[in-house]
Formats: sequence, C-alpha cells, structure tokens
Amino acid sequence: MQELNESQKNIIYSSIRDIPDFPKPGIIFKDITTLLNNKEAYGTLMSHLNERYKSYNLDYIAGIESRGFIFGSALAASLGLGFVPIRKPGKLPSTVVSEKYSLEYGVDEVQIHLDAFRGQDGARVLLVDDLIATGGTAVAAANLINKAGGHCVEACFVVELSFLPGRQKLESLTEVYSILTV
Ligand code: AMP
Repeated sequence: MQELNESQKNIIYSSIRDIPDFPKPGIIFKDITTLLNNKEAYGTLMSHLNERYKSYNLDYIAGIESRGFIFGSALAASLGLGFVPIRKPGKLPSTVVSEKYSLEYGVDEVQIHLDAFRGQDGARVLLVDDLIATGGTAVAAANLINKAGGHCVEACFVVELSFLPGRQKLESLTEVYSILTV
C-alpha cells in the first residue's frame, strides 16, 4: 500500500507546530493549523491520501470532530465519496448512537447519526482524525461506525504518538495507518 518517502514525510512533519502546555500543563499539543496554511504540506498530505485510498473501494469517510472534519471531508470530496461527521454530544440533530471514551486530557463522548450510512449495511468506511494519542477517541469512533451498520476498514491519522498505546488498542478493531509516527 502506498506510503510517503522520507522527504515527503519531512515536508508534513516540519509544518506541524508543537505548543507546550496546551490545553493544560504537560501536554505538547500538535498544532496542524500550520500544516493547513502551508500549501506544499497540505497538498503533499492530501494527494498522498487520495492516492492511497482511491483503490480501497470505500463508501464513506468518517471524520472525528473537529480536525478530522478538515482532512476527512477534503478527502471524501476528492475521492467522490460521502462524508460522515462523528461529533461531540448535543451537536447532531437527529437520532444518534453514543460512546464514552477517555481523552489524553479528560473524559468525553462521541456520537454518530444512526442513519449516517443511509441504511447501507456493511458500508466500507475509512475513519480519519488528525492525531491518535491514547486511542480512546478513535476506539469509540470505530465502535460507533460498527453500531451504525458500517464496517471500519481502516483508521487514518496524520500523527501517531507512539509512546502511548493508541495503535495497540485500535488494532483489535480495524487496520491503523499513521502518516507520521512521533
Ligand atoms: P486520544 O483519544 O487520547 O487518542 O486523543 C485523540 C484526540 O485528541 C484527537 O482528536 C486529537 O485531535 C486530540 N489530541 C490528543 N492529544 C493531542 C495532542 N498532543 N496534540 C493535538 N491533539 C491531541
């Protein structure tokens, strides 16, 4: 399966800014706004994702609020697929299914619309987010995709924090692909 070479990875890696002690002391926040406003880095990332996933025979891209919406919806449009938002509680207006999870910095919950995959049982879904840390958010999101009748084919992240066990947790549910491992 297609992966980036070292110089392409470096273009993306060097565009991401580290913000120490955000949103609380001890967290080094990976700020992807400096990737998004860098056309070379954003272009390298999105054309790689397009190349990698065009042969996956996907039906939907599901993105996790909120940074997963940016990459996920851009990829869905370029692949000609539908996009499904996985959101924080109280944001989705129709009937939802929910999952609770622990975050690197707190406890939260995610929701998906019950009819997100338009009744297509076994719809092939790619899950997208900017970063995997403890894996709590992504595990909850992959469970939601399954509860809504989809099949989570792979979970894709721009950054994986490899000193945390996110990948190991998620691998029991789906394939995991990270563009950068730090
Ligand atoms: P986790 O559930 O611990 O894997 O956390 C992943 C979610 O929290 C993703 O939606 C990330 O956007 C966000 N997140 C967690 N840690 C960081 C970090 N160090 N920098 C940026 N985002 C983070």
